[in-house]
Amino acid sequence: VCTLPFTGRHSFESLTDDAAVETMFRTHFPDVVPFMPNAVAEFQSRPISELITIRTSRWHHKGKVLLIGDAAHSVIPFYGQGMNAAFEDCSILNRLIDRRGTGDRQALFAEFQDLRKPNTDVLARLSIANFFEMQDTARRPLVTARKRTSIFLNKLFRQHSMPLYTMISHTTIPYAEAVEKHRRQERIARWLGLDLVVGAVSLHVRLRAALARRRAARLATEA
Ligand SMILES: Cc1cc2nc3c(=O)[nH]c(=O)nc-3n(C[C@H](O)[C@H](O)[C@H](O)COP(=O)(O)OP(=O)(O)OC[C@H]3O[C@@H](n4cnc5c(N)ncnc54)[C@H](O)[C@@H]3O)c2cc1C
Repeated sequence: VCTLPFTGRHSFESLTDDAAVETMFRTHFPDVVPFMPNAVAEFQSRPISELITIRTSRWHHKGKVLLIGDAAHSVIPFYGQGMNAAFEDCSILNRLIDRRGTGDRQALFAEFQDLRKPNTDVLARLSIANFFEMQDTARRPLVTARKRTSIFLNKLFRQHSMPLYTMISHTTIPYAEAVEKHRRQERIARWLGLDLVVGAVSLHVRLRAALARRRAARLATEA
């Protein structure tokens, strides 16, 4: 899979012929080139499609059909959770079948949707937010400081204070519950005045970045 913008300098639109595709692979993905001898032909033979979010209002029909996985709740891939959410569907559906049997499938499917949809809706929002975070805000000192502080608090308080990313990616806490827990942690942190700590760590991150830039500039002029 090759994820690119549709338009702009490095985009699908700019890949007008085989030579342009080959240059793109050699320039931006040189490590995969030896493993993909037919990369250009394979790239050209695939359709270009959009990354989409699916939020259907109903996942089942008359106890005969049930949508699970991407068919029910496809998300853009920037939290790396689409497949996990699909596996979670399977595990929760299995548990429901074990508990209530398949006699009343309409009620079974309705309960499944009631359990899952609030969580997959949250995942859809998180995936979009993470795209913007990776694109832009992740490099801001304040965001870096918040992350470092929450990792530090996690080391101190373990499961009582977990970063949101850890809860989403490395535990089976339902997505909506993870976001609620994260909000609670943030409220407590604010109440305890941890924003001051975050501010101090942010200042430290800024200073270190400025010093690193100055050192790099000095080395460049010496060389
Ligand atoms: C770029 C990218 C990166 C991703 N990275 C991650 C990641 O790091 N971690 C993660 O957890 N998830 C990731 N995902 C998401 C993950 O790939 C999907 O969530 C997962 O594949 C969904 O599984 P699924 O079985 O529901 O659907 P699919 O995998 O889409 O399976 C549906 C299958 O049905 C077949 N099909 C369609 N129509 C018909 C038809 N009419 N008749 C018969 N068969 C049909 C399709 O060919 C396909 O094989 C990523 C997705 C993308 C696009």
